Amino acid sequence: MAAGKKISASQTGMLRALPSVEEVLESPELTTALAEYGHRLVTDASRAVIERRRESILAGDPVDEDSLAAGSIAAAAAEEAGRIQSPSLRPLINATGVVVHTNLGRSVLAAEAMRAVEAVSLSYSNLEYDLAAGQRGSRHDHITEIIVELTGAEEALVVNNNAAAVLLALATFAAGKEVVVSRGELIEIGGSFRIPDIMASSTARLVEVGTTNKTKLADYQEAIGPGTAMLLHVHSSNYAVVGFTAEVAAEELARLGHEHGLVVTHDLGSGVLADIPAFKDEPSVFDSLGAGIDVVTFSGDKLLGGPQAGVVVGKAEFISKMKAHPMARAMRVDKMTLAALQATLALYLDPEEALRKIPTLRMLSENDQTLKARAGDLVAGAGVAVGEAGAVQLEQAASKVGGGALPLLELDSWVCAVSPVIMSVDELAARLRQTDPPVIGRIQKDRLLLDARTVLPEQVEAVAAAFEQVFDTEK
Ligand SMILES: *Cc1c(COP(=O)(O)O)cnc(C)c1O
Repeated sequence: MAAGKKISASQTGMLRALPSVEEVLESPELTTALAEYGHRLVTDASRAVIERRRESILAGDPVDEDSLAAGSIAAAAAEEAGRIQSPSLRPLINATGVVVHTNLGRSVLAAEAMRAVEAVSLSYSNLEYDLAAGQRGSRHDHITEIIVELTGAEEALVVNNNAAAVLLALATFAAGKEVVVSRGELIEIGGSFRIPDIMASSTARLVEVGTTNKTKLADYQEAIGPGTAMLLHVHSSNYAVVGFTAEVAAEELARLGHEHGLVVTHDLGSGVLADIPAFKDEPSVFDSLGAGIDVVTFSGDKLLGGPQAGVVVGKAEFISKMKAHPMARAMRVDKMTLAALQATLALYLDPEEALRKIPTLRMLSENDQTLKARAGDLVAGAGVAVGEAGAVQLEQAASKVGGGALPLLELDSWVCAVSPVIMSVDELAARLRQTDPPVIGRIQKDRLLLDARTVLPEQVEAVAAAFEQVFDTEK
């Protein structure tokens, strides 16, 4: 209560009416909750609800007398205890059509990756143990060979995410020194990864060259001085500069850097290792290495389709320096990440298998016929549930890659378009977010679109069930 503020008689009355924790715990409304969630959680939840009621009264908020009854508080406490006990992070159905959806968990793992995680997690493992020598080994060894095999790089290193990989490269090679970056490449990804900020936290000094739309080799050349340590090339993953543009090719940049004895790094972002039509305008890991770049960094869970990770590939002399940096210890990956990434990469050894088994690649290369059939199934399922309460149609639409990759690319897809008549489309979207599992679509022109591309084949029935949940109560 704010100091000096008088409590009215009605407030005093309501405060007196509040039950004790013991009274709440004795309410029949809590019998099931006590059995299911245990005494401690239910007691804490009851206390928290009573405290919130007390605060509302003291704040002078309108308080319903019924909400002060022990039974009412007990019901609220049971709900709260249930919420705390059940996982907050849970599966849902992504019907947005955005394949690498950062808010929805980015990449769906391949079953092979998940099995590998389970195998090394439910048991001890040789994470840092050399079985042949019977002595301490390195966790890096479990992942290096497959990355080297796939990319042709001399050496590889895996850290927690690509942001960490970039930070580690800057800290290793350019702490207290200058790094030259084109003004057209000063990206921001996902609100928190900003090249100037990452640079500042590594203590490297950013030297911007060129302009937003055009940067030439001479711009880099003029900026190189005695304090320069690195040339950083950043892929503009989530935007495109169109019109009159110029950027320096990775190859030219590598040549220039090497003439001056500098480390040349390419932050590639997405990690393309597959050859599918959707990726034709995205630079691949091979392009970057082939251009002679020393250190290439990319994400494990964007277009690669694996777990969250930052993969670093390049020349052995540089990668080993990064491995030895103290920061590498702070960014090291867990056994679960190593297992999932290794299993995902192993699928790439057979390109056809990769397209079939890595969900991100499968979704991005799914053919029209399959998409149309799945959207048709969604229409059939939702149609039955919606009935006379709205219109449900099969339509063509465009899906996006997402994950801050290929921002201009639109992939032809098929959607189930729903226009409810008994509630607004916003209301429908909100109710589908509350079903179990929640279904997330996208709203376009007053209709809710469910894009078949990102709905997993085994989730089609659950979408129909979600519509049943929403529309059954309305009929
Ligand atoms: C996505 C991205 C990052 C950040 O990668 P995370 O794996 O999300 O940490 C950095 N640079 C570029 C160019 C990106 O596209």
